[in-house]
Amino acid sequence: MRRFQFIRNPLATQIGANVEEFLRALSGPACFYLDGEDAGRTRALVTLLHGNEPSGVMALFRWLKSGQKPAVNIVCIVASVPAALAPPLFSQRMLPRARDLNRCFRPPFDDAQGALAEEVLEILHLHRPEAVIDLHNTSGSGPSFGVCTHLDRHHDALVSLFTRRLIISNLRLGALMEISEHSYPTVTVEVGGRLDVAAHELAWEGLCRYFTAARVLDEPGRDWGLEVLRDPVRLELQEHVTLTYADAPSPAYDITLKTDIEHHNFGIVTPTTPLGWASSPERSLFAAKDAGGRCAVNRLVRIEGGLIYPARPLRLFMITNNAAIASADCLLYAVADDGAPLA
Ligand SMILES: [Zn+2]
Repeated sequence: MRRFQFIRNPLATQIGANVEEFLRALSGPACFYLDGEDAGRTRALVTLLHGNEPSGVMALFRWLKSGQKPAVNIVCIVASVPAALAPPLFSQRMLPRARDLNRCFRPPFDDAQGALAEEVLEILHLHRPEAVIDLHNTSGSGPSFGVCTHLDRHHDALVSLFTRRLIISNLRLGALMEISEHSYPTVTVEVGGRLDVAAHELAWEGLCRYFTAARVLDEPGRDWGLEVLRDPVRLELQEHVTLTYADAPSPAYDITLKTDIEHHNFGIVTPTTPLGWASSPERSLFAAKDAGGRCAVNRLVRIEGGLIYPARPLRLFMITNNAAIASADCLLYAVADDGAPLA
């Protein structure tokens, strides 16, 4: 069964007056093909893998409205349209009971989300793009950054179209960017918080650079001056542990995190920075594994006198302030404060 509808060179007058009309008309996953000035090369843009992350599709809509022609052919994949349209607009990462689509880019592809991911991969293989950029928003507010699986000069160059911060992740979760290891240079770009106007602008500016530049891959000898953070560890909840966000401890929950915890995104937290409240032992509440598969909880958090503190100076990012996402995915990512792996 084909899930994607294919649309070639849509006219600005055919795509609705705003991004909501645009998505309503699509109603399901869509793949746009835009002919470029140089018909011999193709780049791919993937967005809306998560239905609550609007910046990428807003930027694409703005591009289509502008009537411009890209420098090379562009394949644009807009994936989780039904989740985005579930009311209220852009509120749901995925539909109820569906798997997270950005965890489905590896076999088995045997459910609906897996089949959708497999079709995204088939579209990419068909077009053999010179690069793939997957645009996301963070659920909490915070600065932009790129993520890729290993450092090479192409990844540096692609991320630099959008941001100066790069995370090299050895986590293998089934995310789209993991295809980079055996196919095209692929990076994830998190343009900032899903509700931040600055994130929408950055998505637009970066998309324009990606679509219009004659070259987006490495120029030999160029130093992009990126700040690189390596091998983050994910802090997750143990099963059945309850979590809320508040400015004072909520006794009905196992863990209360401070409502402003997302303000620590990319900042350094020290062992005296309170993150929230809990009273059970760390390892009964939290789960975390380092690159070697060992438990890293006690390297991340310490509970003392009913307060949760970082166990050591850390840089935190992807901090969510949404309890459902924290339970289904993770609370935050962390590296040591110098950007090095948490050994
Ligand atoms: Zn996302």
